[in-house]
Amino acid sequence: MLPITDDHMHINLNGGRGVEAVKEFKNAGGTHVFIVSLPAGEVGRTVARGEDFRAVFDDTVEATRRANELVRAYAVVGVHPAEYIGLAESLGMERAYSIVKEGLEIAAKYVAEGKAVAIKSGRPHYPVSPELWETSNALMRYAMDLCVDEDCAIQLHTESEPGTMESISDIAKQARMEPPKVIKHFSPPLVRECESLNVFPSVICSRGALEEALSQGTRFMLETDYIDDPNRPGAVLGPKTVPRKTKEAIRNGVPEETFYKIHKDNPEKSYGIKIEI
Ligand SMILES: [Zn+2]
Repeated sequence: MLPITDDHMHINLNGGRGVEAVKEFKNAGGTHVFIVSLPAGEVGRTVARGEDFRAVFDDTVEATRRANELVRAYAVVGVHPAEYIGLAESLGMERAYSIVKEGLEIAAKYVAEGKAVAIKSGRPHYPVSPELWETSNALMRYAMDLCVDEDCAIQLHTESEPGTMESISDIAKQARMEPPKVIKHFSPPLVRECESLNVFPSVICSRGALEEALSQGTRFMLETDYIDDPNRPGAVLGPKTVPRKTKEAIRNGVPEETFYKIHKDNPEKSYGIKIEI
């Protein structure tokens, strides 16, 4: 049986639909999912020091544990780039920098302890001051260094401008990260462009994206970035999207073989895990 993997989904145990969303994913044919930590504020938590990220990550680990009763689920923990910007506004840049740095170190510990398989980091996808841009890049680079130490993947939340992929790729190369481990989350279907770069696209499964990605190759993963926020229904893709689009593509003639690459071989290479049913 074909595994079907969603590379980036959120489960909010505090006010979201929680594992009901995973049930929906499973019923549509989903088998494997990466559950990514939400920004602290979205799970009703406040971060005033680095240690406070533990509670945020524990929420993700708990959501993953519950999801694992339905499908095979893996946790990805880290700090959303917007959290750094928010902390810098309220506590000053220096304090914010050290809090986020510590948060990333705790994320690396979760990977070392086997509670998570990858670290989330990135840089703001909206314009910020040159100082904040520079320090955001430094934090992203620091997260990559931690990933090299743990031999794990990074999921990057960044802008998607022309030149973004090259820019991330350059930083990843300096950090000596292996290309499959540098995952551009919420990626446009730039499969061909990324083939020669140190970046692995996790393509957001919006209308037409899978078809475009497939026309360029098979070196990509698929995600919904389902945010599990009942106050924003329809703001993002639902949990059924990846299985549904996969099955639709197969019905339209894409060989199942192709999807073994996308849903099994690629995540296995990126995360160093075994995708089996
Ligand atoms: Zn997300």
